Order: sequence, then structure tokens, then C-alpha cells
Amino acid sequence: MTFQATVLTLYPEMFPGPLGVSLAGRAREEGKWNLDAVQIRDFAIDKHRTVDDTPAGGGAGMVLRADVLAAAIDHARADQSNRPIIAMTPRGKPLTQARVRELSAGPGVIILCGRFEGFDERIFAGRDVEEVSVGDIVLSGGEPAALMLLDACIRLLPGVMGAASSGTEESFEQGLLEYPHFTRPAEWEGRTIPEVLRSGDHAKIAAWRKSQSEIDTRLRRPDLWERHTGARVQSASGARHEDEDPGQ
Ligand code: SAH
Repeated sequence: MTFQATVLTLYPEMFPGPLGVSLAGRAREEGKWNLDAVQIRDFAIDKHRTVDDTPAGGGAGMVLRADVLAAAIDHARADQSNRPIIAMTPRGKPLTQARVRELSAGPGVIILCGRFEGFDERIFAGRDVEEVSVGDIVLSGGEPAALMLLDACIRLLPGVMGAASSGTEESFEQGLLEYPHFTRPAEWEGRTIPEVLRSGDHAKIAAWRKSQSEIDTRLRRPDLWERHTGARVQSASGARHEDEDPGQ
């Protein structure tokens, strides 16, 4: 099955961009995924091909019109594939590896890229659009965010990554950061490789990696660590935390 991506944008020339080379580029040539970059302006309804207007209530910048966006979305949905419609916006739900995995297992995505101040809010409920953020940063447009989302999905498509296992051992897949990596030379500028990694003892190496992954997650991402340990307590007891139960 081909993963079908439709990107609605004011800058279709930005695509496939970095997705045209390396792993994603090869996968595209092999027909594992396909991309259609659609110019939102083609769905404008006036002779000036206007896509935006001033914000209701005043203020700086311009807002993308819901009627124009809806026409572009309806065009993309005409294939009846039931693909989720995702708008890239800093107001959206932070993107997670779990959501990426779900998306990559489906038929594809329709992605809406914002510009200026963003979208008329009514489009989200009006077309059942999922709002997604790629981090607590503000980009000048949704295109780089769309490229990120697509890159993350494409590498998980069947047959895209070389070693099948490298998809499931990575950061976030188990709710933890991955352990650190090393390669030759064994000594570089006086810095060595942890002895255990050169021991050839696979059980010891696995144990070291597991513990390193836990230590690094705890130190670097206390938010992930808390969720990870919380989830373990929950599944071990088979019940919800007492402090989360409104009935207690
Ligand atoms: N005024 C908006 C920011 C608009 S930035 C606000 O303060 O929330 C212009 C466009 O860039 C957005 O419509 C969105 O499509 C994209 N964008 C910016 N930051 C993003 C982020 N963190 N995640 C996803 N998309 C983002």
C-alpha cells in the first residue's frame, strides 16, 4: 500500500524538498509513499486569488480564510481515502512518536500548512481537523513542520528502514530516550568507549544500555521519566493511581 501525503500550502515548491533525497527519496521512487503538494491559492474564490484577511477584533497580521481552506481540504478528500486531516500549529497537541506510528500505519495524511497569523479557528471543527504542534517554538510557516511529520512517518513505513529492529529500539518508542552510541576509534582525543561495549557479553551490554537509557531519561527528560514510571506503576497494579481517581 502506498502512503499518500497531500500537503495544502502556499509554497508547494518547498516539497518534497529534503524528502526527495536519501531514505525518503528512495522510498518515494520505490512507490512506498507519494506526495501531492497542492496550492491553497488555487481554491480562492475572488479574482485576486485572496487566501487571507485581517483578524476579526483587530491586531497585526493576516489570517487564512476558512472558506478557502475548506475548498482545498474538500478537494484533497475527494479520493474518499479517509485520511486524517492535520493542521500544523503551535496551538496544537505536541506531536509524539506514538501518533507518528499510528499515522504511518494508516492510508496517509492531508496536511494543512499555515502562514501569517495562522488559520481561522472555525476550520478545525468545520472539517474535523486535528491540530498538531512540532514543539514549543514558532516557525514562520507550517511547511517545515509538515516535512518533519512526514519524515517521521515515512521512515516507519514497511521496508523503508534497513534493519527492522532499529525502529522499535529508538528514543520514545518505549517512553524513554535511547542509550548513547559509540564507534571506532576506541580512543579519540583521550576519550574511551565504555568497557562493557567492548566485552562481547551481549547480556551485559543489554543491561548497560537499559540502565543508561533510564539514567539519561531521568536526568534529561524528567517529564518522560515521570510518565514512564507512572505507567509502570499503573500496569503493575492493574489499577489507576489513587491520586488520579476522582472517586477516592
Ligand atoms: N500566530 C500564531 C503563529 C503563526 S506562525 C501563534 O502565535 O500561535 C505561522 C504558521 O507556522 C502557523 O500557522 C503554523 O502553520 C506554522 N507553525 C509555527 N510554529 C509551529 C509549530 N510549533 N508547530 C507546527 N506548526 C507551526
